[in-house]
Amino acid sequence: MNVVMKIDASLENISKIKEILNKNNIFFSESKSGSRIILSLAGDKEKIDRLSLANFMGVEYLTSEWTDLPLTGLNSNKAIEHKVAQFSFDKNSFLVIAGPCSVESKDQLFTIAENVKDSGASFLRGGAFKPRTSPYSFQGLGEEGYKLLYLAKQKYNLPVVSEVMSIKHISKAYDYIDVLQVGARNMYNYELLKELGKQKKPVILKRSFSATIDEWLNAAEYILKEGNKEVILCERGIRTFSKDSRNTLDINAIPIIKKKTHLPIIIDPSHSTGHWWMVESMSLAALAAGADGIMVEVHNDPKNALSDGNQSLKTDKFSSLMSKINKLKLVL
Ligand code: PEP
Ligand code: MN
Repeated sequence: MNVVMKIDASLENISKIKEILNKNNIFFSESKSGSRIILSLAGDKEKIDRLSLANFMGVEYLTSEWTDLPLTGLNSNKAIEHKVAQFSFDKNSFLVIAGPCSVESKDQLFTIAENVKDSGASFLRGGAFKPRTSPYSFQGLGEEGYKLLYLAKQKYNLPVVSEVMSIKHISKAYDYIDVLQVGARNMYNYELLKELGKQKKPVILKRSFSATIDEWLNAAEYILKEGNKEVILCERGIRTFSKDSRNTLDINAIPIIKKKTHLPIIIDPSHSTGHWWMVESMSLAALAAGADGIMVEVHNDPKNALSDGNQSLKTDKFSSLMSKINKLKLVL
């Protein structure tokens, strides 16, 4: 619901409404239409109705359209710039984030960084703190991994992406990492999302394997509500009955997200398939379906990778994928 104030509403009139909303724990965001103030409300609809805001001094009228996603929704803030970590999302851009599942060593990371840069990737990815199913699997290099990513960023001039699995990882990553990733397992970690909302760093928010689109968008809303508007959604496959792939890429999510929100959406063809030989077709499908980019796992020696070797593209295959992406872009 929007409360549209009169053009000549006094500061006192506006403060009074805000005071009532705050007192009743009703979230609102403020915008201007010409010199008119508009307050967009979210929360408990019945509670808002009971406040009879139309009767307050300075209120011109209320609009009845209702959204549970005042910040993430399509009609929320059209003025938000679609620019994340210096990357401008527009109709013709396609963000390619590439790199190993895990940072394993300086040599491994630099070899991959050089290759993906030469092939045309825009950002470098690499896991430092790894969310592994088994506690006995490689857990990542930890903070050392963030530092190696920073060195690779400086050498190859590629912004870097890495996951933060808990609130305490944020300060460890902060000086080294350009884009903080929330993994599928943490999409429901609301305390982590709130904390990320207070940071001045872009966030890639992965969809949980069991999340509905609305749950995913509400997770994004948690980040935006705290002030951080630089959120990229990442579809990484959901769990279905299919045993032939690790997950099922929900390609439907692309047009749905485009219809529901202004946020950019990228696809992870690696975790959604679990097989390197499916990565190319799913990446091209994502581009054709209107995604804003992909995040793909690339390794120089997938057979000996410490995590997710099966789904990692070898560097030469990544280079060939990039050529196909560039060709497909020309015909779309
Ligand atoms: C990852 O991107 O490194 C990762 C662990 O992915 P997800 O959270 O989607 O499983
Ligand atoms: Mn992985």
